[in-house]
Amino acid sequence: MRIQFLRLFSLLVLCASLGSAPLAHAQDGGEKPPAGMTIHVVQRGETLFRIAQRYGTTVEDLVQTNGISNPAALAVGQRLLVPSPPTTSDEAIGIPTTYALQPGDTLFKLAAEFGTTEAAIAQRNRITNPRLLYVGQRLALQEGSESAEGIKTGWIHHVAAGETLYHVAARYSVSADLILLANRLRRPDSLYVGQRLVIPADENGVPLTDLPYPFARFEMNAAEQGRTIALRIVTLTPTRLDGTFMGKPLTVFSDDSRVTHTVLFGVDALAQPNIYTLRMVATGEAGEQQLFERRVLVADGGYRNESITLSANQLDLLNPSITEPETLRVAQMVSAVTPQRYFGGLMGLPCAAPVTSHFGTRRTYNGGALNNIHAGTDFAAMPGAAVFAPAAGVVVLSETLSVRGNAVIIDHGWGIFTGYWHMETLNVRAGSLVQVGDVIGTVGSSGRSTGPHLHWELFVQGVQVDPLQWTKQSFP
Ligand SMILES: [Zn+2]
Repeated sequence: MRIQFLRLFSLLVLCASLGSAPLAHAQDGGEKPPAGMTIHVVQRGETLFRIAQRYGTTVEDLVQTNGISNPAALAVGQRLLVPSPPTTSDEAIGIPTTYALQPGDTLFKLAAEFGTTEAAIAQRNRITNPRLLYVGQRLALQEGSESAEGIKTGWIHHVAAGETLYHVAARYSVSADLILLANRLRRPDSLYVGQRLVIPADENGVPLTDLPYPFARFEMNAAEQGRTIALRIVTLTPTRLDGTFMGKPLTVFSDDSRVTHTVLFGVDALAQPNIYTLRMVATGEAGEQQLFERRVLVADGGYRNESITLSANQLDLLNPSITEPETLRVAQMVSAVTPQRYFGGLMGLPCAAPVTSHFGTRRTYNGGALNNIHAGTDFAAMPGAAVFAPAAGVVVLSETLSVRGNAVIIDHGWGIFTGYWHMETLNVRAGSLVQVGDVIGTVGSSGRSTGPHLHWELFVQGVQVDPLQWTKQSFP
């Protein structure tokens, strides 16, 4: 492995001088990507999200650059144009001083490859029983390399305006603490625009994690008020995960082998922007447990204020004795978690019309305090216009409600529900399975509505979040 590191060292230097990305990403036999671009060959198990994270870009950029029509259908071996990763400077490149154990590694093999002795590795890492080594275990290989400060490979990230340590950490899927350590920073709020941060990475350019065993990968998108966060977690062994975030239990969906896990979490639009601790407990097959914590910044959603004037007879829109029983019924319905997942890829738009009011707008009624938020997205469609299912699912409600009017609720599985209010006609029945693009009803002004429009809502395990995010970002 020493040979591999040394070879990589020279390759990286060569690449840096060519102004291109590490060769690990560009095994493409002579094809010349356009300036500022790299060709990525899709590997088994990779997703656009994963590739975007690896190169510090977004799924949307990859979809646009490559004209991808179905982001869920990536083929192994497919070539993608991606913006070149952040410039790697010579000073950030070197031989790693720590090494993560791979399957098949032994102390004897490592000693031979790193030009040291088994005893030296054992002593430096306080190993008393080599049989207890585990895959992923991080061993110090050089003097003084016990801390993350010794990590000498990585990307250089230039801090942009408005970027916090937590944004940078989320972007590279490393912890804020690891970035602090690697850059010898004491305070998370000491970043400045243009600052060069070392993002610790392994010999293949993959950002390092400081995850405890059995966690192998932990990825999440930036958290914001009223937005959906997806956590993708890989464990080295079959594991049960339980966790909490912002005072709520996490609902974890694990695959059959229980090594890949997904969590979808809705951040309340009225949550206080702050740093919250995400806690997760991994339980292995023998009952052994490992706690994992990560500090996560929940940023302000930047929602606008809107003032609405209601006439006296419309004011009962706000009368809790009228609205509450119906709201409770809907809330109960959308808090169910169906283990089967019907959605996949980007959601479509439910209506071919301009958006007139966005999710999250703070609403004042008749000059009162900001006491309400707009919990959905409004489309200014003509009465009678078709309303489409934006994703597959099972209709769980299709009836006339007193406040929401002619309403449809679709269960997309995994605790994801969408709601459609104030429609003119209902074209589906409770219990029917719908596919993306099916017409579920038509636009109207039924119930307590001030004019024809479609009001669209999306719930993540009972929490109302911005539905338009799901039309721009694909969730697993
Ligand atoms: Zn609305």
